[in-house]
Amino acid sequence: MTDDRYNILFEPVRIGPVTTKNRFYQVPHCCGMGHLRPQAHAAMREVKAQGGWGVVSTEEAEIHPSSDLSPYAEQRIWDEKDIPALRLMTDKVHNAGALAAIELAHNGSHAANLYTRIAPLGVSDMATDIGFTKQARGVNKKDIKQFRQWHRAAALRACEAGFDIVYVYAGHGMTLTQQFLLPELNQRTDEYGGSLENRVRLIRELIEDTKDAIGDRCAVAFRFAVDEIKGSDGLQAQEEGRAVVEMLAELPDLWDVNVSDWSNDSMTTRFQPDEGYQLPYTEFVKSVTTKPVVSVGKFTSPDLMASLIKKGVLDLIGAARPSIADPFLPNKIKENRIEEIRECIGCNICVASDNLGVSIRCTQNPTMGEEWRRGWHPEIIPLKRAPASVLVVGAGPAGLECALQLAKRGYEVTVSEAGSEPGGRVVAESALKGLAAWKRVIDIRVHQLKQLANVSLYTDSKLNSAEIREFAANHVVLATGSQWRTDGVGRSSREPVKGIASLNVLSPEDIMQGKLPEHGPLVVYDDDQVYLAGVLADHVAAGMSGTTVDIHFVTPASMVSPWTEHTLEQQRIQKSLLDAGVSIHTNQRVVAATGSEVTLCCTYTGNLTSLPCSTLVPVTERIPESELYDELVSGDVSVELIGDALAPGLIADAVFAGHLAAREFQQEKADGAEYRREMPSLAQD
Ligand code: ADP
Ligand code: SF4
Repeated sequence: MTDDRYNILFEPVRIGPVTTKNRFYQVPHCCGMGHLRPQAHAAMREVKAQGGWGVVSTEEAEIHPSSDLSPYAEQRIWDEKDIPALRLMTDKVHNAGALAAIELAHNGSHAANLYTRIAPLGVSDMATDIGFTKQARGVNKKDIKQFRQWHRAAALRACEAGFDIVYVYAGHGMTLTQQFLLPELNQRTDEYGGSLENRVRLIRELIEDTKDAIGDRCAVAFRFAVDEIKGSDGLQAQEEGRAVVEMLAELPDLWDVNVSDWSNDSMTTRFQPDEGYQLPYTEFVKSVTTKPVVSVGKFTSPDLMASLIKKGVLDLIGAARPSIADPFLPNKIKENRIEEIRECIGCNICVASDNLGVSIRCTQNPTMGEEWRRGWHPEIIPLKRAPASVLVVGAGPAGLECALQLAKRGYEVTVSEAGSEPGGRVVAESALKGLAAWKRVIDIRVHQLKQLANVSLYTDSKLNSAEIREFAANHVVLATGSQWRTDGVGRSSREPVKGIASLNVLSPEDIMQGKLPEHGPLVVYDDDQVYLAGVLADHVAAGMSGTTVDIHFVTPASMVSPWTEHTLEQQRIQKSLLDAGVSIHTNQRVVAATGSEVTLCCTYTGNLTSLPCSTLVPVTERIPESELYDELVSGDVSVELIGDALAPGLIADAVFAGHLAAREFQQEKADGAEYRREMPSLAQD
């Protein structure tokens, strides 16, 4: 039964002509599936509807070929041929009891039209901010008239496809309407430029057009970024942001409010750990309009959600990432299973998938993106085929996820962990500056394992191959992880750094265990180029602030932690290091060491320079812990190697590997039958 305190979250809310059954609202979010993978998309949204979300939205849907976001896989509603793919989603969402929403978008100068080759459209003549081939041309009055017709036609198609809520979208720094609104971009001298009233004109027209076209059947939502988090250099919630809401207060049926750009809206916990962090910007909205208001902020606590509704701050609890990490979050609150909620850790691996143009992945939820192609469900796993005992060696994210899912399937599971607590690399990494929330990956799994009678977890239990054989489990899963190299071999050099032994070398694991260099200068050498070196440098700089030790960050890349552009963090990371006084040396490899300095080699010219250094932290490559596997594989033990011990990667990869091993145990499939593919249709227009 639902806890009385949370009943308020399950009240219906009227939104224009439609009513949502509760206050859980999955706001539009990208997923790397879009028009390219419609079956996968529909199945993923269906699972959210099954999980209890009252409203389930698409990602942004390009309304016209002049808004072509290729190579990214967003949604498309260019013409009636897109309707069947969208209907796949609305049918599934409706069958599961939720309303379906679509976020219509024209991306203006944010769309380079790389596929369609149409000249990009802008509020004024300007460079495109994505794709960088052609500039956008400033639209004229005729274009604006046409644009309004495209938007109206797309709204009619959305209605035909079965959507209940249709968006007008001015957010994330990504849409033509928002570009009209921002004085920094809008250089127009006609009635669409200049005063705020003029800059809002197009938004007002679109909302009116949409209501006129479909307002009797569908609710019209307006998604609006009330603040750009640029201070007085941008739109501010208490200035023009508020004025816009006042001007349009009663026009849309729903206000979906957030902050802009995407890196601010989807801030990682590393830089913004607080739940509800957008509220200081968005909470004024309800005082200006009588229409329902939804907003986001990584909400997972039902107490906070209920209090926001009671206090009249929001009408609907918006969520993108919390609905990805746990599609069943609403049902778990409803059924009083709060401790089973898999809380989002705010790592933005989900965002990275979209930025890489592949189907969504999630660190916490390994079934995300696999609903259709592998038939995975976040709450359901097939029971065992036949009784068996399984020994899982290593309780990092791979081992724990594998053990949990095997135990859910009904096997007798034993987990043996060498360390004094379960968690492996996650425990170690979550001790670093900004990464505390990552520990949730372990906490939820250990908590769930403890509820199951058919699994035993032993810590301080390092096993060798003889002990594993002696244990005589029917199957052994080795999830023994990996260790960072300390010789400097990495992405851009297959040779160890010459003379590295003359330096005090600290491994990434040493820093994670709390060691700091006793003397400097310190060089963090990042030839991994993902995220860890940036975190370690930041962590060490914070731990040594107030000392006179010089800290240098050296990388063969052209920026700090380049991969983190995908998680929307790169700028914040580099700024954080600069603010902490870390000297950054880009395009440099460390090639040699002499005890008091390292020799750097320019990646372009090969020129050599030297840098004072007494302690080196090489973050380059990992060595998989596969020794046990090598010893066991040729014998008669049924054994497999998973996670970082097989191929070091992200924590998300390790969790996925653990899940996959558990799902596939006793379910051998023919080669090529592991997952379904969406084949391009050979049908022609
Ligand atoms: P993954 O990310 O693949 O889960 P981790 O490095 O996070 O890998 O975790 C691997 C875990 O395996 C570590 O906690 C480590 O202590 C443990 N481990 C490694 N070798 C053994 C062993 N021989 N016996 C028991 N535990 C082991
Ligand atoms: Fe949250 Fe990370 Fe999952 Fe995204 S990938 S939903 S940020 S846990």
